[in-house]
Amino acid sequence: MTAVVEVHDLRQVYRIGRGLFRQPDQLQAVAGVSFSVQPGRTLAVVGESGCGKSTLARMVALIEAPTSGRLALGGVDVLSAAPKQRRELRQAVQLVFQNPYGSLNPRKKIGAILEGPLEINTRLEAPERAQQARAMLALVGLRPEHYDRYPHMFSGGQRQRIAIARALMLKPKLVVADEPVSALDVSIQAQVLNLLADLQAELGLAYLFISHDLGVVRHIAHDVLVMYLGQTVEQGDKGRIFAQPLHPYTRALLGATPGLVGSGAAVPRTVLKGELPSPLNPPPGCVFSTRCPLAAERCRTERPALRELAGRQLACHLAEQLIEPAAPQH
Ligand code: SF4
Repeated sequence: MTAVVEVHDLRQVYRIGRGLFRQPDQLQAVAGVSFSVQPGRTLAVVGESGCGKSTLARMVALIEAPTSGRLALGGVDVLSAAPKQRRELRQAVQLVFQNPYGSLNPRKKIGAILEGPLEINTRLEAPERAQQARAMLALVGLRPEHYDRYPHMFSGGQRQRIAIARALMLKPKLVVADEPVSALDVSIQAQVLNLLADLQAELGLAYLFISHDLGVVRHIAHDVLVMYLGQTVEQGDKGRIFAQPLHPYTRALLGATPGLVGSGAAVPRTVLKGELPSPLNPPPGCVFSTRCPLAAERCRTERPALRELAGRQLACHLAEQLIEPAAPQH
């Protein structure tokens, strides 16, 4: 099956000016990330603020061009696509933002907000646009009378439903959701996550789900990619990673969220200390070495490559030490 999105060694390097006569600094926001997402699947990208996950989201949503790497949507290479094909690809991927308050035009009624993408990108007549907008309102659990209301008349959860509805108007294959529930109350978060799951089951959507909240990721993801300072440190099946996280950083993230680790597995707790280092001046060797409780001499000089271990991709020299022996057979 062709992947909805396929990313290989994607990089984003920003040049930060230092004055007239000095070379600009280089900030590597995303340092070679690879993944693919199949229809009906969700890949969650997790990490602290500043780890590069939102930059990755913007590149995949075609808002920002990467510095290098390959990005294919539905098997078509985006970076070498002709302008017309690129426009079509833009419709196949849509973005849902974190803030449902700021992402809807307060002066427009909901009907006009939903019909906007159709007006710009299709030749549908007004009655047909209205009919599709009303059908989409029903699909996201809103009522027909909401069509004529303004955004300020809705709760945060309802506004996020409207933002999701708008993202789906052009029938995308991929939805990039950047912290879509983090501005909502916990009780409302579950409703929006359930809606996303229902829409995925009904429409076969692929999601790239950006989040710092592993409690949310546990509910929505099939696969997980853990980022630290622009790099992938652990990547694979959600069940496997939650049951036995092997990268010290993943352990620290999971350990900081009560009740998440393992299916009874006793995973040693790793406490995350200190701040994320500046991406302008990343540590030599392993990027996590300044905060890792297991860091050894080798870690400070030699960068660990991403490699296959215990059914996932992992970048850690010492991960073998963290694999628990299988329970004895009786
Ligand atoms: Fe920690 Fe070393 Fe593994 Fe990096 S390579 S995560 S510093 S043990």
